[in-house]
Amino acid sequence: MNTDELLELAYKEADENFVGVATQHIKVMREALWDLNALMTHDESAIVQWGFKWGQKVSDAVSSVCACINKCSHCCRRCIYITRAEAIEISKFTGRKITESFTGRLLPESIDIIQELQKKYAGAPCVFLKDGSCSIYEVRPIECRLQVNISNQIEICDLVKHPATKVPYVSDGVHIAVLSKLGSAQPSADIREWFPEEVN
Ligand code: SF4
Ligand code: SF4
Repeated sequence: MNTDELLELAYKEADENFVGVATQHIKVMREALWDLNALMTHDESAIVQWGFKWGQKVSDAVSSVCACINKCSHCCRRCIYITRAEAIEISKFTGRKITESFTGRLLPESIDIIQELQKKYAGAPCVFLKDGSCSIYEVRPIECRLQVNISNQIEICDLVKHPATKVPYVSDGVHIAVLSKLGSAQPSADIREWFPEEVN
């Protein structure tokens, strides 16, 4: 199956799965709304922890109706663009220092840069991918939690075989809430830029 045929099939399946996904997603987001007080803080660590918690709940809720039940790691071989606040949580967990040697990028200015990084890191494993699994599972970025392919086609996530595809991921209200709360001055970069060296 070529890329176009695969995309067509994946989006058809994503449409078919949509009701199931949306039903589960809405249930979780309703619960998250009751927890919004936890987001009413200027403590960036608390804001990120809220995103970790509810990002995971969304992922768990929709996993029964998506391709990810089979587990794989193509989504760990692409640009993972994360905020400084998330990098700090990973740093606390791993003991690794973050680097800010890249030129500071603020979220609203990032669209072109993200596209550039998507090309650069397509197929490149995340520094925290070990033996096919995430070695920082407890503190993995919000984006990682919400990379849930809602079609039944795992292969579409393989950006080496199928570059420039758009995977039908679950929508990311949790991520948007966190990014809004962290604000437009939050520096962001690919996870490999925050942690440039290989984990031993
Ligand atoms: S998003 Fe894609 S690569 Fe990641 S676990 Fe799901 S199917 Fe696999
Ligand atoms: S942090 Fe973990 S889940 Fe996210 S890309 Fe890296 S290895 Fe994968």
